[in-house]
This record gives sequence, C-alpha cells and structure tokens, in this order.
Amino acid sequence: MQRVYLDNNATTIVDPLVKEAMDPFFTQIYGNPNSLHDFGTEPHPYMRLALDRMYKGLNAPDDADILITGCATESNNTVLKGVYYDIMHHGKRNQIITTPVEHPCVANTAKFLESLGAELKILPLNEDGIVDQEILRRFINPDKTALVSVMWANNETGMIFPVKELAEAAHENGALFHTDAVQAIGKIPVDVRDANVDFLSFSAHKFHGPKGIGGLFIRQGLRLTPLLHGGEQMGGKRAGTVNVPEMIGMGLAMEMAAQNLEYELTEVRRLRDKMEDALLKIDDTLVVGRRGLRTPNTILCSIKGVEGEAMLWDLNKNGIAASTGSACASESLVPNPTFVAIGINKDLAHTGIRISLSRFTTEQEIDYAIDVFRNSIERLRKISSSY
Ligand code: PLP
Repeated sequence: MQRVYLDNNATTIVDPLVKEAMDPFFTQIYGNPNSLHDFGTEPHPYMRLALDRMYKGLNAPDDADILITGCATESNNTVLKGVYYDIMHHGKRNQIITTPVEHPCVANTAKFLESLGAELKILPLNEDGIVDQEILRRFINPDKTALVSVMWANNETGMIFPVKELAEAAHENGALFHTDAVQAIGKIPVDVRDANVDFLSFSAHKFHGPKGIGGLFIRQGLRLTPLLHGGEQMGGKRAGTVNVPEMIGMGLAMEMAAQNLEYELTEVRRLRDKMEDALLKIDDTLVVGRRGLRTPNTILCSIKGVEGEAMLWDLNKNGIAASTGSACASESLVPNPTFVAIGINKDLAHTGIRISLSRFTTEQEIDYAIDVFRNSIERLRKISSSY
C-alpha cells in the first residue's frame, strides 16, 4: 500500500542533507563546547556557521541574540515568562495581549501568568479569522500593555497574521511584540528586520530539521530573565549544554528553507491548490480561510456528514497521514474561534481535516490522496446516512 505523509504542520521529514551534516557531531566532533580542551573547541566554528545561517535566514542584525532552545515551546515560555518577571511582575504594565488561536504553549503560558496576577486580554478575530491592526489598536492599552504575542501563521488553518502592522501598533503603545513563527518559516518570507518584531520563536522540526531543538530571536538591547537557570552557557541567557548536532542541523535546515522558499510558494502551492480544488468539487465541503491569506501548504477542510476522527482512521487505513484541525476543541466542546469568526455554517462545522504538504510531497502522491479522499468521504457518508 502506498503511504502519503500529509501532516507536515505536525512535523516534517528531516532533509537527508541535514541528517548527513549532523552525523559527525555524534561520534567524531562530540566535545562539550564549554570545555577548554581541543575536543571542546572543535565544534565552535561549525556552531558559528550554524548561527550565521540562522541570522541570515531571519535577516537578523548581528547585534541581536538568537538563543538555541530545546523547542519552540521553550522559546515561547521564555518570552512570556521573561516579560512577566522583568516587566509585568513589578511594573505598572501588567497586561498581556494575545489571540484565541495561539498554540497551547502560548495560550496556556498566558493563562498561567494570569493565575499569577497578570491581566490577560484575548483579541477577537475579524471576519477573515485573523487579528488586524485596527483590532489591536482598539484593545491595546498604552498604560497597561506589556506584551503582544501573535503567531505569524496558524498551525490548523494556515492563516497568516499581519505581524509587521501588529508590531507597529504594539510599539506605538509602548508594548513589546512577540511572534510565534513556527508555522511560517520555510513557507512564507520571514524577515525580523522588516517586521520589526522584538521576539520570534522557531522550531527546526517544522522545516525539515531535527526534533527537540528550537530558537528564539531577541532584538538587540533586550534581555530576558532566563527560563532555565544553571551554568553559564549562552552567556547565561539559557543554561544547559547545547545540543550541538541538532544546532548544526537546524542551521542548515534554515538555510535550505530560504533556498526552497520560491519552490514552496509556487510548486507546493500548486499541489495544495490541486488538492483543494478537488475537495471543493465534492458536495458540502468547504475550506477554512481565504487562499491568499494562508500559508501555501495548508488546507483545513470541513466535510458535512463526516466525523473527523472516523475520516482520519479511514485515511490512515489507506496509507494517508492527515490530522484533525478541530472544529471543536474536543475536551471543552468550545467551537474553534476561526470557524466562528469566518461564520462557518453550523452544519458544515462538524469536522476539520487538516492536510499539510511540504517540498517533499509529489504530484503522484496528491493524485493518490485525491482518490482516497473521494472514496473515503463517499463511504463514510453512506455509513452515517444508514444510521
Ligand atoms: N507553535 C506552533 C504554532 C506550533 O504549531 C507548534 C507545534 O506544533 C509549536 C509552537 C510547538 O513547537 P515545538 O514542538 O518545537 O515545541
């Protein structure tokens, strides 16, 4: 049976060239980079090259910081908790503003800080399912807001947020601006200088790098209380021995993401559109969010009369890996805010199946997936109408 991986917003295959570049750092150049002997200093030039690739990939100025973290969850926690400790905890600015569609590592960290006394404001979405500058301007408080945290692109829908305009509004009101760019890197242009963000989080495994390594861009002149205390690694800004092989891999993966961006914006988009057009030809289906406002690899499709998990298992039986982009957050039965914002008909908002491609997805795989989706929807609709 053919297997097709269409869950690239969850994680991606490691590019074989990235794996190859990491290999020597397990068994040959394995010294602790904080040791003073030659084993310890040998990895330094390679680590410098990896960092240079990250600075270039993000267009970060030389005097900015890029911290190497264990994942984007850590990067996001570092920003929110750091700003809480440094500003909110003892200043008069005590408010954090975010959106209802952030990843749980932002949403739950913000709720935790609320439980410690921070004021949390969750912005409404506009009719496109995003937050725009006008909405932020309406809710930001020039005396109270310390941090605005808005993702660059959403993991379920692929919706792209106007971070440059949002950062501008935050700064005009004396607040710092953080963006979780995990789902943006490698899919759309990401330029920290142009967007003028203060903090930006990323994660290697979403752009064909290894799992368990991430990064945090920090604008020059800013310093955050570290999340992890311990040794003096990374100038005391993030304690813990750095994961050298994965840092090398993340640097190369970032460089390759930039090199392949044009392909993503044209060829991956073409395959995504082909799949999307085929799904929309089936009765009573819809795709969440306007095409032009989404990352080029993502489809969140709602299919009337088909339960999300049943569909997922049926696809899995046919070798296709997709994901449920929940119409309802299952534990709470709260409707997905994007579905509500863009006014999706209740009958259609039963389920969301998320299909996410990558530069490794082939035309033949998409043709196979289209056939499987058609058959699966027909079969499941027959079953559900027989009850
Ligand atoms: N932010 C977004 C938007 C994500 O999609 C994810 C992972 O799914 C994360 C953060 C967390 O990334 P990591 O797995 O590196 O902790």
